[in-house]
Amino acid sequence: MKALVKATAAPGLDMMSVPEPSYGPHDVLIRIRRTSICGTDLHILNWDPWAASTIPVPMVVGHEFMGEIAAIGDDVEGLFVGERVSGEGHITCGHCRNCRGGRRNFCRNHLGTGVTRPGAFADYLVLPAENVFPLPDHIPDDQASVLDPLGNATHTALAFDLVGEDVLITGAGPIGIMAAAIARHIGARFVVITDVNAYRLNLAAKMNVVDRTVNVAAENLERVMADLGMTEGFDVGLEMSGHETAFNSLVRVMNHGGRVAVLGIPPADVTIDLNAIIFKGLEVQGIYGRRIFETWYKMAAMLQSGLDISPVITHRYPVEEYEQAFATVASGACGKVVLEWSV
Ligand code: NAD
Ligand code: ZN
Repeated sequence: MKALVKATAAPGLDMMSVPEPSYGPHDVLIRIRRTSICGTDLHILNWDPWAASTIPVPMVVGHEFMGEIAAIGDDVEGLFVGERVSGEGHITCGHCRNCRGGRRNFCRNHLGTGVTRPGAFADYLVLPAENVFPLPDHIPDDQASVLDPLGNATHTALAFDLVGEDVLITGAGPIGIMAAAIARHIGARFVVITDVNAYRLNLAAKMNVVDRTVNVAAENLERVMADLGMTEGFDVGLEMSGHETAFNSLVRVMNHGGRVAVLGIPPADVTIDLNAIIFKGLEVQGIYGRRIFETWYKMAAMLQSGLDISPVITHRYPVEEYEQAFATVASGACGKVVLEWSV
């Protein structure tokens, strides 16, 4: 089969012919139809220090996908060949305390699809049946391929009660924009999103889900709050940029007793104003991955009840044009970039 492979411990990705993966009695073989590119894939392509210390080579990369079941293991029940599916890319151990306690998202031994076990940028992917998410008909293929990052947005946005609250999102990447759409969908009052990238702020504005976009390189956030008539501060903050200055500006404009969910992954240690967190009594919650599968059911339900994330998918390429697709992601002038597979 064809696959996008990190073949050696160096920058780059190769389209290669590799053997079809074999599947065990509890696994499902998925024929991939659509994948989307994550920032993580770019780190792997560029072979940055995180990638170099994390990815064993050779490795088929990619973890955002949808497709259809091509074959099922002998002991798999409740799934069928031909079924449209996506799936949870975090493969959990099943025997640690959190797995046994039903909190699989906190598994301390998990493997990452396309990171530490063979990934989805291939004609075929093998996934444990318990990680498969059957797709409801109301989710089209392209959107189904971005359920992994939509799940990050959902998990973060639902970490705290947003109903009637003023919400600040730092970082208008695809996940930040999808989180803004969720905040609007579930009934926040003001939704404000920041970035330094004009393309992305325009995309957020076009979605009609935010009250204000703020280019923090040129505009003053406190002035925007005053314009909106906000006198105290944001009730909930969602950090989705991974940038130190974004986190610190967020803390600065939070109301006392506010709640902050942190998804963005900084590339290095950051300095934070711990005094502000203490004296404001902020509740700060780290967010990793998605709840398995509670987040998946919530996002599928929100997509059914009117959440529209379709404008976030801005580019589609046949997988043969993967180099251009990755260049588009690297440029920052995009939302989600989808790769189309055909066997
Ligand atoms: P992205 O890199 O596409 O978006 C981040 C955005 O932040 C960019 O548009 C960038 O221009 C913007 N930004 C840079 N400096 C800023 C500043 N000072 N203020 C405001 N915005 C600024 O990433 P994404 O795919 O949307 O993901 C969002 C973040 O979540 C990334 O840091 C990613 O690594 C992280 N992530 C975490 C998890 C997890 O499980 N914790 C999962 C997926 C992604
Ligand atoms: Zn575990």
